[in-house]
Parts: sequence; structure tokens; C-alpha cells
Amino acid sequence: MEPVKPHVVCIPLPAQGPINPILKLAKLLHFKGFRITFVHTDFNYHRLLESRGLDSLQGSPDFRFETIIDGLPSTNPRGIQDLPDLCLTIPVEGLRSFWELIMKLKDVPPITSIISDGVMSFTLEVADEFGIPEMVLFTPSACSMLGYLHYEDLKERGYFPLKDASQLSNGYLDTDMDWIPAMKGVGLREFPTFIRTTNPNDTMFNYNLQSVNNATKAAAVILNTFDDLEHQVLDAIKTKLTNLYTIGPLSLLHRQLCPTNLDSMGSNLWEEDTQCLSWLDEREPCSVVYVNFGSLITVTPQKLRDFAWELADSKYPFLWVIRADLVNGGGEDILSEEFLAAISDRGVLVGWCPQERVLSHPSVGGFLTHCGWNSTMESVCEGVPLICWPFFADQPMNCFYCCREWGIGMEMDSDVNREKVEILARELMEGMKGHCLRVKAMDWKKKAEAATTPGGSSYINFDNIVMQLKQE
Ligand code: UDP
Repeated sequence: MEPVKPHVVCIPLPAQGPINPILKLAKLLHFKGFRITFVHTDFNYHRLLESRGLDSLQGSPDFRFETIIDGLPSTNPRGIQDLPDLCLTIPVEGLRSFWELIMKLKDVPPITSIISDGVMSFTLEVADEFGIPEMVLFTPSACSMLGYLHYEDLKERGYFPLKDASQLSNGYLDTDMDWIPAMKGVGLREFPTFIRTTNPNDTMFNYNLQSVNNATKAAAVILNTFDDLEHQVLDAIKTKLTNLYTIGPLSLLHRQLCPTNLDSMGSNLWEEDTQCLSWLDEREPCSVVYVNFGSLITVTPQKLRDFAWELADSKYPFLWVIRADLVNGGGEDILSEEFLAAISDRGVLVGWCPQERVLSHPSVGGFLTHCGWNSTMESVCEGVPLICWPFFADQPMNCFYCCREWGIGMEMDSDVNREKVEILARELMEGMKGHCLRVKAMDWKKKAEAATTPGGSSYINFDNIVMQLKQE
């Protein structure tokens, strides 16, 4: 008789950014001989069915999907702006639903471990009650996590909570935080935006802070980064959190170990347009600017129109992802016929693309990004330099490190104007600065590859996780 496989339950925050890396880790563990139960919310499970079909949710008898409820009322539009609502309901309703799920699953075969998103830390309570060890995976950057870990120091020194909203705009946020180890040159403005609040009862702030604080209760903390990239920051985190494993970039580790394992099982919540890959095939090497603001950001119709013309003026071929829900209150025809005619010979607009395949395409010469952590890491994997336009959460911190520490990006400030986008795009695609960023980006790509191949730090750490999980 075959020995019973160790059984790991994986549960991400129900948003695209966290689902992607946690599914990759789950596939890696499956490849290493674990039985996996992957937990979506009901809502996302049905979205995946719609966007990718049943195939994406059927892989193997040893890799099953289950669901919990998120607690949002069915009348809630559950758009991407609903994170604050979700952070109120999921620790209550999601907790109850997760408890019931673990009760149902616990013996068939026995659950040996839980790997939860670090920001679904209410699952630690359930794990504790059932006596199941739990590891947490934080999907944002280590540098932003360090920001949360220093919140109490910042509070003690009187920086946060902000006294009033005027502090957001009067230069106060430029204050240097040099006294924090590994944060040389970082200003208050780079701290995760949820911390920059005047309201100590703010939902997003408390939800995130509590999650980071709860990390000490986990059997291990996993990060989607690699030692070379954030080593000083990681050393600083290790003084506060022991048992830290860096296993990133998860895209590369997955590609290295099991690129085709459970291939049809996808995680895109939006329907992917793959025709843009054929369009890229017809472009010159390194000639296209790829533009994507991830899965959560929304903009006003006017901002979209202004940005569209800025991009058009830059004269480079571009591939721009405009999610169906990118524009707040937007209808179908936000971009004018005049604009579409102006870009028809060199611009392609799609609703959602296979981003990793786009970034690895030889025609892509630069990425104008919001600096979401997955996007940043996926760019590092392909050696693509960045124009960084951060909006919220960990994005300002990621932008700082991309531009000032790792030398792979140029920052675009939030009051973009037509000329600025044009100048930055020209500099990135043809200028000396762009050349230097590209060289650096290729350098980091090589280091990321080294980390995820045998003998590399992420490769070894992943083996150690497997060992720890098998002993549990
Ligand atoms: N993504 C994608 N296609 C798109 C847009 C995004 O596949 O058109 C993926 C991207 O590869 C990344 C994730 O969605 O893995 C977005 O995560 P990120 O942390 O960059 O940003 P967030 O959406 O959380 O702001």
C-alpha cells in the first residue's frame, strides 16, 4: 500500500496578487509529493469557472479545490474597491467557514499543515484549535513588511498616526527614517499607505498591522523574495521574526522545478487575451512599452484619458492592459475615436494579458508598472527595466527600492503630465539611463536565476520548507 501523502491546505487572501504566488507554491508542493487542498472563496471560485472554465479547477486527485464564504452580502458588487469591506467580514464569516471546512476535511486524509496568506491570519486561530501547524506566506515585499514591523517605534516617536491630513501634503512625509536598520534613505512617504492614516481605527491599517504582528505565532514565515535582493532588510526582519524562509521569485522556482505540473490549472480572475502575444511577435526586439496597473487600482475616467494621450505622445509601440473595472464608474467609450485612430498602428489595448509571457517576450523593452510586488518580481525574472508609478499599499516602498537600491526603475510621480511620460519613455527605451537600468535588470535576473537553481538560497529554503512540512 502507498504511504499516505502529507496533506497541506493552502489559503490565499481572495485577490489576484496573493492567489498567484500561493497557487505556485501549492503546485511546487504537489510536485514534491504533497496532497493539496487549495481554498478559494465561493465568489472567486465562480469567477474562475467563468473566466477559465472547469479545467482550471481540476488538476489531479491529489490537488483539490474547496471554498469558504467571504461574508460579503450577495448584493455587494464585490468590485475591487471592496477590500476594506472584505477585511471586516472575512475575519468573522471567513473564520467560521474555514473552521467548518477544516472540521469537514481533517481526517480525509489528515491535514498535516496549513499554509495561509499572512494577511489571512485569522486562520491561525483555527489551526491552533485543531492542533495543526501553520506557516504563513506574505505576498508583498520584505521591505514593506519591515515598515509594519517598525510601526510601534514610529508611533512611540510620534510619527504615526498622523495628526491631521495636512501632513500628507506639507513635506512631513519626506522625513528620513535613517534610524531604522536597512532603511537608509527611506522617507515616511514610502511606508505602506495604510499606515499613513490619521485614524488609528482605520480598517485596512488595523487588519494589515495585526496580520504582521500575528506572524510570530506561525510555525514559519515565507516570503516571495530572494536573499541577494533584500538581504539587509531580511536581516532586519530576522531580528523580529525567526524561522523566515525566502523562496522567490516563485515564478522562477516554479519554472525551474515543475514548469508543466498542473499546467491547465490557472488563477486568472479575468479572461486572458493571448492575441497580444501574436502582436508582440511582429514587433522589433526591445521596442514595446508594456503598461499594466495590476488587479486592484482604479482611476477616474479623466485620469485614464489624460494618461492615454501621454502614452500616445511617447511614440513607442505599446501594449496597455485596461481591466474592465479599471475605471471608476467608467462606461465602454471612455477613450475617444480620435485616440484609437491615433494609436491604431502601434498601440494595443487588452482587458487582461498573460503577464509573465508578455514580460518574457523579446519585443518588450520596458514596463510601466504600479509596482505591485508580483509585477516587480516577474519583471526581475525577465530583466525588464521599469517606469514606476506607485499608487498605494506596498507600491511606494517597492518603487523606492526599484529606483534607489536595485537600479532597475525610474519613478514617475503621481501628477503625471504629457511631457513627463514622453520623456521617461524615451529615456527608458533609448537613453543612457535606460541602458544602465537594462544592464542592472539583467544582472538581477541572473541573481534571481542563481537563487532558484540547485545550491541557490531560495532553492535550499524551499527544500527546508518541504522537510519541515514532512516532519509536521
Ligand atoms: N496579471 C496578469 N495579467 C494582467 C494583469 C496582472 O497576469 O493583465 C497578474 C500579474 O502577473 C501578477 C498579478 O496579476 O501576478 C498582479 O499582482 P501585483 O502584485 O503585481 O499587483 P496587484 O494586482 O496585487 O496590485
